[in-house]
Amino acid sequence: MRVEFVTSAPDLAGRPLPVLPEIACYGRSNCGKSSLINALLGRRRLAHTSGRPGKTRLLNYYRVDDAYYLVDLPGYGYARVSRRQREAWRRLLRAYLAADDRPVALLHLLDARHPPSADDRTVSGWIAASGHPFALVPTKIDKVGRSRRERHYRQLVAGLDLPPDTVFLPTSAVTGEGLGDVRAWIRAVLAAAADGAAGPSSG
Ligand code: GDP
Repeated sequence: MRVEFVTSAPDLAGRPLPVLPEIACYGRSNCGKSSLINALLGRRRLAHTSGRPGKTRLLNYYRVDDAYYLVDLPGYGYARVSRRQREAWRRLLRAYLAADDRPVALLHLLDARHPPSADDRTVSGWIAASGHPFALVPTKIDKVGRSRRERHYRQLVAGLDLPPDTVFLPTSAVTGEGLGDVRAWIRAVLAAAADGAAGPSSG
């Protein structure tokens, strides 16, 4: 896999060219987003663990095999951000979801250990309403005993208002569980986007 960091865009105007399909990762701060991105891309420290609220405003673009961008969207839910910063991330995500000039699919990450927060619910609603393909990705499942996982998954789903056919891909960046499923989902989404771009007449 060839992976290159491309840019940190402060807004939609800063998105890189060429236009490629975008697989965007979104989740509450500390949900394990950086760890999952690094694990998916097979790099140790490509995405930086996002310890600082000031770093959360950027859309970080990684180009993978010249086939797609993996986009690290700003994490949400920091306790200490100002109202203004909170509004800024809301605006940025809503603008990102509303832009229809690029093929986009989303991975919504949630820590498998905890019930969804109010922010998780809000974001989940926006993602579902955006019409983009998306998958719900519980993270850190190694921290939940196997016998308790089903209960935790039900807790996640019960806390969100999801379409019945929502794709559900539990993962652990530590053990690697579920990473193959996420990669397979990304491949399927890219294949569908390529079909769509080719147009109906191309068969
Ligand atoms: P981010 O803020 O969403 O980018 O989250 P990070 O990737 O920085 O992870 C937050 C914390 O969770 C760190 O201490 C990670 O080591 C830990 N973490 C992330 N993913 C996993 C996982 O799959 N399993 C376990 N046990 N810990 C994880």
